Amino acid sequence: MHQALSTMPALTGNLETDENALAWAARDYGGTVHDRPTAVLRPADATDISTLIKHAREHDLAVVPRGQGHSTGGQSQALGGIVIDMTALSAIHEVGTDRVVVDAGAKWSDVLRATLPHGLTPPVLTDYLELTVGGTLSVGGLGGASHHHGAQTDNVISLDVVTPTGDVVTCSPDANRVVFDAVRAGRGRNGVITRATLRLVKAPETVAWHKLHYGTIGQLVADQRQLVTAGAFDYVEGQLKIREGEHVAELEAVSFAGRGDLGGLSFRETETQTVTYWEFVDRLAHGEPFLREAGLWESPHPWCNLLVPSAAVEDLLHHADRELGADLYSDFGLVLAYPLRTDRISTPLLRLPADDLVFLVAALRYAPTASPEIVSAMQEANGHFVSKTLAVGGTLYLDPL
Ligand SMILES: Cc1cc2nc3c(=O)[nH]c(=O)nc-3n(C[C@H](O)[C@H](O)[C@H](O)COP(=O)(O)OP(=O)(O)OC[C@H]3O[C@@H](n4cnc5c(N)ncnc54)[C@H](O)[C@@H]3O)c2cc1C
Repeated sequence: MHQALSTMPALTGNLETDENALAWAARDYGGTVHDRPTAVLRPADATDISTLIKHAREHDLAVVPRGQGHSTGGQSQALGGIVIDMTALSAIHEVGTDRVVVDAGAKWSDVLRATLPHGLTPPVLTDYLELTVGGTLSVGGLGGASHHHGAQTDNVISLDVVTPTGDVVTCSPDANRVVFDAVRAGRGRNGVITRATLRLVKAPETVAWHKLHYGTIGQLVADQRQLVTAGAFDYVEGQLKIREGEHVAELEAVSFAGRGDLGGLSFRETETQTVTYWEFVDRLAHGEPFLREAGLWESPHPWCNLLVPSAAVEDLLHHADRELGADLYSDFGLVLAYPLRTDRISTPLLRLPADDLVFLVAALRYAPTASPEIVSAMQEANGHFVSKTLAVGGTLYLDPL
């Protein structure tokens, strides 16, 4: 046993060193990095985290918080160190008229289940809600509403944090600002968020959800630019995929108040449906069982997330469509392109390209299990995509700090 473990001060929660706990902490959604820790802490409270961090520091042992482990490159793993399972702290506390207080291990789906009965919602949600509040606040948290409201990290009122020296502090724009700016998008390396007070806005009951189909990537991008500049829709995203052999370029434009004006856009055809707000924000929950059934939920996901200047996005999307090819998409894979306005994002550690509009481009691929050569080929293709993006002033999103 590591000396740091045998001399660990008393903790209220559990410090686990059994094979199951270590194997669990050495896996993430990416399935390509497997760094085994020495122990896993399931904390009872912030004091446990503080005690652990102070002790680990004396023994030069890495401590890494983990939410749902939906990272794809080992960001929530700690080789030889200690992983803190933040899902042990997942309570939802008060829901106020404009804010909710939650433990950092709570999932966004649970936050919504608590706030929607009050007619309230966080202004920005990720596409998939089964991620923890601490996990997305540690990267930024971007979604189709970010062109209005910025990242999730821009919609935080205050945070309770255990700092890298083990101090327990509350931070906000007005108090302990240095800590506030270091932990938001801090990838868990600048402190552990234990509790968050999140901004809430009025939730619509129903939304008008338009799926617009395009003949070319150029038209898709031009319409995305037009829509986010005009600000006429509450949610705007785009995606490229291949389905039944056809290349598809699709834009989702969602209005929370009425249908929204689609005039002047150059889509070929459109499908529109009215659904409840919950049905819309929880839409990816329906995809998960299919992926599980196809064996693609547990298989490797060599994903690649980049922030691209608007001036370069069309060229890069053509590159993705051409070079990453059919093996990129299979029946489920896709390239997402969310347009963002940089004037809405103010989180210091969320590094953005220098442009008024930027796009989050996410190449999301599912590799068959037990095919290391396919995973390597996908990683190599990602490498080219990253180099090309960095060369035009793009930045990496979700990379380890
Ligand atoms: C299916 C899917 C859909 C996604 N959709 C989106 C999307 O629409 N928009 C978007 O922006 N991202 C999206 N992501 C990426 C996702 O937001 C990040 O990978 C996020 O970090 C995962 O959250 P998690 O709870 O699984 O965190 P983990 O993977 O467990 O941890 C992620 C990072 O956060 C740190 N961390 C975790 N908890 C804390 C804490 N309490 N305090 C400090 N640091 C902490 C970890 O150390 C690690 O560095 C998606 C990922 C998946 C798998």
